[in-house]
Amino acid sequence: MEESATISKKAAKKAEAKAKKEALKEQRAAERLAASVGAVKLDHDDPAKDRYGRATPTSPPVFSSDAQEVNLRSLGEEHDGKTVILRAWLQNSRAQSAKMAFVELREEGSWTIQGIVVATAETSPEAPHVVSRPMVKWVGGITPESFVVVEAKVQRPVEPVKSCRVSMFELLVTRCFTLAPAPALLGMTLATANRPIVDFNDEETNAPGEGEKDADDGGVPAATMLTHLDNIAMHKRAPVQQAIADIRVEMKHLFRSYLRDRGFKEFEPPCLIGAASEGGSNVFRLPYFTKEAFLAQSPQFYKQIEIAGGRKRVFSIGPVFRAENSNTPRHMTEFTGLDLEMEIRNDYNEVLLMLEGVLLHMFRQIQERCAAEIEVVRSVYPSEEILLPEPGKEVRLSFAEAQQLLREEGPAEFRNVRDDEDMSTPQEKALGAVVREKFNTDFYVIDKFPDTARPFYAKVDPASKPSSEGVRATNAFDFFLRGQEILSGGQRINDPDELEERIRAKGIDPASPGIEGYVDIFRQVGVPPHGGGGIGLDRIVAWFLGLPSVHLAAYYPRTPKRLSP
Ligand code: ATP
Repeated sequence: MEESATISKKAAKKAEAKAKKEALKEQRAAERLAASVGAVKLDHDDPAKDRYGRATPTSPPVFSSDAQEVNLRSLGEEHDGKTVILRAWLQNSRAQSAKMAFVELREEGSWTIQGIVVATAETSPEAPHVVSRPMVKWVGGITPESFVVVEAKVQRPVEPVKSCRVSMFELLVTRCFTLAPAPALLGMTLATANRPIVDFNDEETNAPGEGEKDADDGGVPAATMLTHLDNIAMHKRAPVQQAIADIRVEMKHLFRSYLRDRGFKEFEPPCLIGAASEGGSNVFRLPYFTKEAFLAQSPQFYKQIEIAGGRKRVFSIGPVFRAENSNTPRHMTEFTGLDLEMEIRNDYNEVLLMLEGVLLHMFRQIQERCAAEIEVVRSVYPSEEILLPEPGKEVRLSFAEAQQLLREEGPAEFRNVRDDEDMSTPQEKALGAVVREKFNTDFYVIDKFPDTARPFYAKVDPASKPSSEGVRATNAFDFFLRGQEILSGGQRINDPDELEERIRAKGIDPASPGIEGYVDIFRQVGVPPHGGGGIGLDRIVAWFLGLPSVHLAAYYPRTPKRLSP
């Protein structure tokens, strides 16, 4: 134990020293660069002096009258030979010689194009040429991640530019202005920001910043999540994060449009609530004038109030808060819930099928709509193609069937799992592997959870027989993706007496704050049979993409130890 502590201390010291040396080297290089850029003073006799420089309100950029603004996404044949204006981040510059420099311009996400700046022949003030040597030097010295605007002629490169997303065209830069220069030294380079994160630990360790260099990646060091979040703008600029964010936006859009097409109405539940109604321990408390308030752990009760209030089908998309000290790749203290609730006509399977339908629609559509973004993510975080069930071949197991499968076909350590006890995370993952092997799918449903594993509002299956311990099955289910839970749902109790009985059976006082008012709603009016489910948006994005942590799928991950940025 002591020996391993000494070794890890030594390793940490070594890593720290290495990181310091690396940082020093980078700083020196940056200083040299800054000095060289500083040295490139704008030459007032330079006939090209109006074609480059730092743009300011008093000295705005000037362009040719025939130049048109373009976006890289829509650059095509029609632009070949034309003069265009592009606003972009300069992500790389390389002076080839005194007469020629290459730049890489990134407009958004992974949309990049090569630019070349070439000094033209001899000039005189009477016959100013397009690009001068001082201009080439100045452009070649712009610091990476500066925001620039260029005027350029679109042309075909000698060979396709493999390093840029726009590979069939390049820009012959004839004007270049910095709108917002970046500092000489970045806290994290774009190349590092676009490498897989090496450590998701939220605590400062001895070894700061960037991790080991990887020979396979041109020696670009990878960084920890802490470094990423401390350099949030660079983290977000990385094409991989932009692609994840675009996929997330599309997932949300697909959820909303599918449900709207089926008569669901969107509503906004409150985040601030007066009682920790769904359970005491994992709720955030905060001062509220002279009282105490809580942050909602889910929109559950409010979805049901909407149904009680005469809405037949509702959904909400919004933040959910959990005061759980769970430092895992699956948990955050704030996440985005995709929730729905609907009236049941005949059977709770209507709810199960609706939830299955919306998720499969989202996963299938996203593969088509975001194929390019998925590819960008896979280039950084490789993952196996997700296996979805063929229509009509969806896998729905009862909890008892799932446990039997695990006992019979799972790892030896799960030979004795019981039908009346909830599954642990390792059990869920092992079952995921068995289901993939047996049914060729990464997406499946486990239904009829035991009442011990569900909250008091879950409807007990009237047909279920109690186990020897008195445990009964419920009309409640979880959905899984790549062996991890992504959704909880089921039928809710709509009869006030039955509800009160289940509340007591769970050892909760029906007169306790939040609970009494909830049960009252079912006494005030007749509430139709109903059910629904809650999906974690961060989890479906992360597990669909095979990411190592939900923290990568969130815009600003909140964990027990991190509240910023
Ligand atoms: P778990 O057992 O994994 O902690 P849970 O049973 O508490 O999850 P529910 O309360 O049923 O989860 O929430 C519904 C869905 O919300 C989950 O299936 C999951 O997708 C998501 N979710 C729950 N807790 C978190 C969390 N802390 N961080 C991110 N997503 C979460």
